[in-house]
Amino acid sequence: MNIIFMGPPGAGKGTQAERIVSEFKIPHISTGDAFRAAMKQGTAMGVKAKEYVDQGLLVPDDITIGIVKERLQEADCASGFLLDGFPRTLEQAAALDDILTGMERKLDHVINLRVDRDLLLARLTGRRICKSCGATYHVIFNPPHREHLCDKCSGELYQRSDDTEEKVGTRLDEYINKTAPLLAYYEQKHLLREVNGEQEIDAVTSEINSVLRGQA
Ligand code: ADP
Ligand code: ADP
Ligand code: ZN
Repeated sequence: MNIIFMGPPGAGKGTQAERIVSEFKIPHISTGDAFRAAMKQGTAMGVKAKEYVDQGLLVPDDITIGIVKERLQEADCASGFLLDGFPRTLEQAAALDDILTGMERKLDHVINLRVDRDLLLARLTGRRICKSCGATYHVIFNPPHREHLCDKCSGELYQRSDDTEEKVGTRLDEYINKTAPLLAYYEQKHLLREVNGEQEIDAVTSEINSVLRGQA
């Protein structure tokens, strides 16, 4: 199963991806996670990406496409993949089509998580991430059992530096200007499915599951 999760920052892509990949046993490919890992390691790519990520701007297409192209060619993607946060521009979408054609593969589903802008701000400013395993929490909507500690691995939780009100504004503008046009692109290919991302986390998961299993 070859899947894309789309949706604005804070829509719940990462939260839902964690659940869906464990059920379908496919790798979770998050370009955001890839950039944060490279930034932490201080690789040349990470240093370049940081200039953009820190400002809430999209990283240039050539860097982003290169990462995904390499990742999709790794052995564990043979059974399928879940792309979370890629593509985010029309250029990235066209490049993905070329990469998949070259591998004689195709997309099965593009799922768009729909969430209103006001709710996105509340979700992003309350988001907390585990330093050790990357699990995502929310101080109000999805709190850990012990404050500041991960339920799964007891790792310490932190707030992303781009999850401030100011950066969120820029990120949402980037989404509207550059990413939202992709919805029409996938609609035309009859791949797009809308899911109401404003429901409880479990309800969103079951709606996605129904779409993926062809029951909705
Ligand atoms: P969110 O979970 O809020 O949607 P991500 O973790 O996916 O955010 O992305 C964080 C940042 O990484 C983005 O603001 C952007 O700077 C960069 N980024 C992630 N994916 C892409 C992409 N496909 N194209 C360009 N930049 C990206
Ligand atoms: P994205 O990857 O799309 O940026 P996340 O999955 O990181 O979004 O979710 C953003 C924040 O909202 C996190 O703090 C997460 O715990 C919370 N969240 C995700 N889905 C829901 C939901 N259905 N209801 C309430 N809060 C949610
Ligand atoms: Zn953890």
